[in-house]
Amino acid sequence: MGSAEAIDPGVVAFLRAGTRGMLINGEWSSASSGKSFPVGNPSSEEVLAHVAEGDSTDIDAAVAAARRAADDGRWSDLPPSARSRMLNRCADLIERDSEMLAQLETLNNGMTIHVTRGLVQYAIDLFRYYAGWPTKIHGATNPGDPAVLNYTLREPLGVVGAILPWNGSIGASAMKIAPALACGNCVVVKPAEQAPLTVLRLGELLLEAGLPDGVVNIVTGFGPAAGEALTRHPDVDAIAFTGSTNTGKKILAASTDTLKRTILELGGKTPNIIFPDCDIETAVQAALLGFTYMNGQGCALGTRIFVQRDIHDQFVAALGQAVRAMKVGNPLDPATAVGPLGFRAQFDRVTDYLAIGRRDGATVAFEAARPSGKGFYVPPTVFTGVTNDMRIAREEIFGPVAAVIPFTDEEDAVFQGNDSLYGLAAAVWTRDLGRAHRMARALKAGTIWVNTMAWLDVSCPFGGYKQSGLGVELGPNSIDAYMQTKAVFVKL
Ligand code: ADP
Repeated sequence: MGSAEAIDPGVVAFLRAGTRGMLINGEWSSASSGKSFPVGNPSSEEVLAHVAEGDSTDIDAAVAAARRAADDGRWSDLPPSARSRMLNRCADLIERDSEMLAQLETLNNGMTIHVTRGLVQYAIDLFRYYAGWPTKIHGATNPGDPAVLNYTLREPLGVVGAILPWNGSIGASAMKIAPALACGNCVVVKPAEQAPLTVLRLGELLLEAGLPDGVVNIVTGFGPAAGEALTRHPDVDAIAFTGSTNTGKKILAASTDTLKRTILELGGKTPNIIFPDCDIETAVQAALLGFTYMNGQGCALGTRIFVQRDIHDQFVAALGQAVRAMKVGNPLDPATAVGPLGFRAQFDRVTDYLAIGRRDGATVAFEAARPSGKGFYVPPTVFTGVTNDMRIAREEIFGPVAAVIPFTDEEDAVFQGNDSLYGLAAAVWTRDLGRAHRMARALKAGTIWVNTMAWLDVSCPFGGYKQSGLGVELGPNSIDAYMQTKAVFVKL
């Protein structure tokens, strides 16, 4: 392991425990088919563990367990303060095991240990934030005809299906599970097939916290078998999905038959817009982090770097220096800035985009050194000579690859920045206050960063414009997303 951190004994024990089962009705069980599949370590290309391969039969069992738990009120009928205490207990246990969870996530998806520690902290913050909500979800009494008393009740939806991505399993799972539970729902989670391990460990922690059986169920398996069965299931009231735009469209189509509520957090191609009047040094460092954070596999990363023409060459030179200085390697090593891509298909896909960029006429201005030997490493790469209509500027690459595109003025920056299928986030670098606020209004994206990047806060709404998503999560918006409002009229 070289200079990497010592492996946490909890990780060793978890990985030695044999094939991991699914969590259905408070018990760990094998797949009904008896099948399992391997999950890997993208840094060593070795198999890390085997997990149960759930299919529609297992989804049926998990949904039935969640439905029973939702209908008999074993969770939703608890006093709000009891649900609140339970969510805080979950947060305490995640905190207790935070290093174990961070290392397990790093081993499974290749994100650097800095990133996964951050993701685990984010999961803790989410459980604590939503632990505050059960006691604060109010209905209203409505003014109206004095002949009636008219009020609203806020009720859980019932059963929520959560379909998770592989690039931040622990954070993404908490982002869905914590608010869904705060609202009194029961949940069936389908982790990504490439990175289910921390979600399974989270399931163990939820049981240890004392969450009643059937309130959270976890079915591991593949998208078309397990994920689609969950999406189509008539007893599932809502699907919360984070993943690619293409899969999001399939999920939306598959959920129309049962008209279930659908919350989609999808892809992005964030414009990072640099004006000459900004603090260039800070902007360079942020631009670097902006496309390499999470090894380039984050939905809101600033992969289109728009630089005003007058400072283009100066900015590109400084960015090049920074890129070359990056350490790419073992993600468990705290000195590493960029680890491997998540799995082989990701590696192939990003490598293809490097070829596509060149073929379409862009120039590789810089790339970092790639470690020799095994692992799905792609060097952080910056393309220049890019136009906004090239595929590398239009399509989500999901790797540490940035396209630098020049612009002339504010109007041009807004036009090019908005000229995208996506609208998850946008960043603007300027010291001009008026321009900053004008840009914040004009850019069509769910999150705008000014003189910073990559902020996300549990209390702040997060959602995409255009093909970046449907619905808004986090803060009070996740409470709205997982609740039903009922109106009551009582004749007086
Ligand atoms: P990627 O980021 O690798 O493209 P996806 O967006 O396809 O990943 O996958 C994210 C999650 O969606 C995973 O849990 C995956 O198993 C699941 N999934 C993939 N295809 C489907 C589908 N047709 N229906 C439901 N879930 C799916």
